[in-house]
Amino acid sequence: MKTVRITEFEDWGECPWKWDYKWQRRLTNNESSSQASIPQIIGSAIHFGMESGLTDREAALEAARLYIQANHPQRLTDQLETKLSVVLDNMPWDVLGLLYPVTEQLLSVTYGDLEVRGKPDLYGLLPDSQILVIDFKTTASKGYQWSNKLQVESTFNLQLPFYAVLLSDYYHTDVLYQHIIVGTEKRGQAWVEEPKLIGPILEQIRKLLIEKGESVGNTTAPSEGWHCLYCPYHTIDEVRLTGGDWEYEIETNWHRRVDRQTNVVIDLEPEKGGEDES
Ligand code: SF4
Repeated sequence: MKTVRITEFEDWGECPWKWDYKWQRRLTNNESSSQASIPQIIGSAIHFGMESGLTDREAALEAARLYIQANHPQRLTDQLETKLSVVLDNMPWDVLGLLYPVTEQLLSVTYGDLEVRGKPDLYGLLPDSQILVIDFKTTASKGYQWSNKLQVESTFNLQLPFYAVLLSDYYHTDVLYQHIIVGTEKRGQAWVEEPKLIGPILEQIRKLLIEKGESVGNTTAPSEGWHCLYCPYHTIDEVRLTGGDWEYEIETNWHRRVDRQTNVVIDLEPEKGGEDES
């Protein structure tokens, strides 16, 4: 049985090396916690806050603060606290009034020899008992807000429809899905997508989900392209692609996340493993 997480699809599609560094070797740069950008920290803190505080603003804020204290203590400034509050003020809490809300729950569905796993940000029941699944994005500027909106409206971003397929196949019911993009800079900035039903496109999206799941890890051919510019692993590959000792670079400047030790392998043809989705 092969197990694949939905969050692996994009990295695999961009570059097998990136997928290997991130999902097989589980590498984290030794400097990464001090280098993380403010939007990254806020995004992670808000996800953690929503996970811990469900749909309660004060509980979510408290949990988000605790996340930053634990993971980026030196970054918890008044400015960051203000941004956290802006994001939480911008959350469309009325839309989040789901019955039995579930956050970051690991779902697993088996398709033949393929197990697909996913952790949607939030799902729950609407008053008419339909399931709604929500994906959050936080963004610093209006420009990014609109580019994110374009991205989620295009067929390029299939992560949320994939979660809707998993939920639909898990609960054997039709599922609505909805993106929400929340601004971090100004109060009142949020884009709330109209919920869409997965039913009419269920077969097509399920087929894509299975195709993508089966393709992950199937070739070791590296690809080098524009993704390298934005890739967190480019320092490793600057050494690898110029014939240097890139394992030494890894040993020196990177570590394997302690909670992912069991997933570590040492080449590009690893066995799949891991219990967590992210
Ligand atoms: S730097 Fe480029 S080749 Fe290397 S892992 Fe990243 S995307 Fe792949």
